[in-house]
Amino acid sequence: MRLGTRKTCLVTGGAGFLGSHLCERLLDAGHEVICLDNFFTGTRRNVEHLVNNPRFELKRHDVTFPLYVEVDEIYNFACPASPIHYQHDPVQTTKTSVHGAINMLGLAKRVHAKILQASTSEVYGDPKVHPQKEDYWGHVNPNGFRSCYDEGKRCAETLFFDYYRQHKLRIKVMRIFNTYGPRMHPNDGRVVSNFIVQALTGQPITLYGDGMQTRSFCYVDDLIEGALRLMNAPDEVTGPMNIGNPVESTIRELAERIVQMTGSKSRIEYRPLPQDDPMQRCPDISLAAKTLDWGPKVKLEEGLGKTIAYFDRLLAEDPSIVA
Ligand code: NAD
Ligand code: UDP
Repeated sequence: MRLGTRKTCLVTGGAGFLGSHLCERLLDAGHEVICLDNFFTGTRRNVEHLVNNPRFELKRHDVTFPLYVEVDEIYNFACPASPIHYQHDPVQTTKTSVHGAINMLGLAKRVHAKILQASTSEVYGDPKVHPQKEDYWGHVNPNGFRSCYDEGKRCAETLFFDYYRQHKLRIKVMRIFNTYGPRMHPNDGRVVSNFIVQALTGQPITLYGDGMQTRSFCYVDDLIEGALRLMNAPDEVTGPMNIGNPVESTIRELAERIVQMTGSKSRIEYRPLPQDDPMQRCPDISLAAKTLDWGPKVKLEEGLGKTIAYFDRLLAEDPSIVA
């Protein structure tokens, strides 16, 4: 630990959607931030407003290789998160989750840092229990198109808990449910960014399946608040802990809402449902509410409004961004 309460925090995947918001919040709290990224899905643009801050350092590095830095806390967010990105090079996705976890846990052990893992609701697969509670073991296909991500993240959780039991490491495992907001990648195929960009550019809204599958959408600021509270909770609070918004909506409702909010003329176009697409997903967040006194504050309408404004600006600056 450095002098006073200022900490040095490593954020892997720091130039990505969630990582960039996290870097911002850590800097606002007065900490030093090392933002590490291989720029697979993240961009410098996401952190360019931070690079002149003397407490911020941007480092190109791939977490599948060892790293030697002195830090107090590690937020391990490096991993492509959208289905089209993590399926682009599935072997690399598993390596990022598994080798990345091994390297970051090894670093945490060597420098006695506390470490938080960005795990995912995907560890529950296509769940048979609803809403999902942390003690549910999930229903996951081990060899399908989503497995590189789902099983990679499950193995990372295993490693975290083995380092906790075997090496007494201070760990935090956060299971993130669908999160959206400014700085999502405009071409990552995730539903919120896809629908907003399609609505703003007058393209058809691509609804997969009958649109009756559900997700629960958490605004990025709420998610980051949950991550910070979990990291700062007492050592015995290891998780796994669900962080997400329990307000569930069908994908069709989401499409209709975005069309209405953007005033778009786009029509809805039905496409086949991708393999292993979970039918229902909704977090039980009672553990986070009780332990961290945390709950989402931003309503879907408000969060979508901010996200639409972000993509509107982005498209005005550079329409080729979605080419
Ligand atoms: P993102 O793609 O915007 O960010 C991931 C970042 O990791 C990118 O900047 C990317 O370049 C970087 N990265 C990928 N592989 C790397 C590697 N090998 N070495 C170094 N950097 C690498 O996605 P996001 O939505 O910000 O997700 C961040 C984390 O949160 C991921 O671990 C993801 O699995 C998890 N998560 C996100 C959500 C969500 O809804 N956004 C849901 C569940 C879990
Ligand atoms: N989806 C859709 N149209 C799109 C993109 C996604 O209907 O253009 C659906 C997708 O099939 C899934 C849901 O929206 O049921 C959420 O997809 P996303 O890729 O955002 O996240 P995940 O499936 O990982 O929760």
